[in-house]
Amino acid sequence: MIRPSRIAIVGAGPGGLMLARLLQRRGLTPVVYERDAHTGERPQGGSLDLHAETGQRAMRLAGLEAAFHKAARPEDQGDRLYDAAGHLLFDRDDSGDDRPEIDRTVLRQILLDALAPGVVRWGSHVQAIVPSSEGGFTIANGNTTERFDLVVGADGAWSCVRDLLTATKPRYEGVTLVELGFDTARHPQVDALVGSGKMFAVGDNRALIAQRNGFGHIRGYAGLRLEEGEARAWMRAPPDTVRQRLGETFSGWSSSLIYLVERGDILGIRPMYALPAGHRWPSRAGLTLLGDAAHLMSPFSGEGVNLAFADATDLADAITGEDGWAGIQAYEATMAARAAPAAEGAAAGLASVFSPNGADQVLAHYHQRVGA
Ligand SMILES: Cc1cc2nc3c(=O)[nH]c(=O)nc-3n(C[C@H](O)[C@H](O)[C@H](O)COP(=O)(O)OP(=O)(O)OC[C@H]3O[C@@H](n4cnc5c(N)ncnc54)[C@H](O)[C@@H]3O)c2cc1C
Repeated sequence: MIRPSRIAIVGAGPGGLMLARLLQRRGLTPVVYERDAHTGERPQGGSLDLHAETGQRAMRLAGLEAAFHKAARPEDQGDRLYDAAGHLLFDRDDSGDDRPEIDRTVLRQILLDALAPGVVRWGSHVQAIVPSSEGGFTIANGNTTERFDLVVGADGAWSCVRDLLTATKPRYEGVTLVELGFDTARHPQVDALVGSGKMFAVGDNRALIAQRNGFGHIRGYAGLRLEEGEARAWMRAPPDTVRQRLGETFSGWSSSLIYLVERGDILGIRPMYALPAGHRWPSRAGLTLLGDAAHLMSPFSGEGVNLAFADATDLADAITGEDGWAGIQAYEATMAARAAPAAEGAAAGLASVFSPNGADQVLAHYHQRVGA
């Protein structure tokens, strides 16, 4: 493969859209296949923080730095930690890091607005990618079949592109998060509990987490250890049943914390899955991956979107560079080396929060970060 010109990106998540934008800035017109019918089909989740050297750098290279800073919330970087009795163990208004928060929906919209019309093909669920006799791969979608020099799997946790490269599948990590929503106007006590960024309340193998989002919203997570089959059953259960089970799980916690599971809107059940840290696959000309498709990890390192953006930056360089497929192989090696420590950190973070002495471990982590 010389320099690919016909490029398909499967998935219009943050990673796929960032790659499309960076390629468009360099005169290429990729096709982005997205299974959602339109931008508002699914809630996009809560707040993300963009790190200086990865997420923010990508926004700068994409020419979207001003739009990011206009929408970002640098004031929401505080941390609080409570124990199950509701005692405040740690409270810091500003983490001191340069990691402004932005709502995921807003970030996605900034990226979508920066793409030429028609680049994203909504309602296009890619199900078949097959080698083409002319080189590259064809993607069949509805009644159309198109050939591409390069297909990039930016299709997240359950990537269909990854299935063409490796038999490795994400493994369940034993912990499930129930996502909860609050309006601060309706729930001033949650507003007060959270402070200026996010709060963790950590008890024996359980945690309640809440994070300030934009537009007067707070996103919460009730996390607990569950067998995989049970987590799947919770996904199918009516909200009242989930709420009842959460009430049982957090019984005995302080009333200010229990309020979160009693009163939050139940937005979804998210079992945590991860690929093995350092996951690699045999390189195959014409196909590559980025973001969660390549290195899915739990959110306990706070790196997922930042890694996806760094991948998009490096892959755009490789695609438009002079080294052909060797450049993309070098990208794959760099990506794997960058993601491995973050994946180890995410696994360690999840194991320490969901442990018998989780509050002590999280407190030690915060003290280490502030150098106390
Ligand atoms: C609860 C939770 C909290 C998180 N918090 C943070 C955080 O604070 N900070 C952070 O950096 N990261 C966080 N993450 C991780 C972050 O969300 C992911 O790392 C990030 O979204 C990965 O982006 P992506 O573009 O690789 O994949 P995704 O965002 O998963 O996007 C994949 C896209 O591909 C589409 N798709 C899938 N299959 C197909 C197909 N066959 N055909 C067409 N389209 C397809 C999907 O519809 C989707 O739009 C969190 C994750 C979770 C679950």
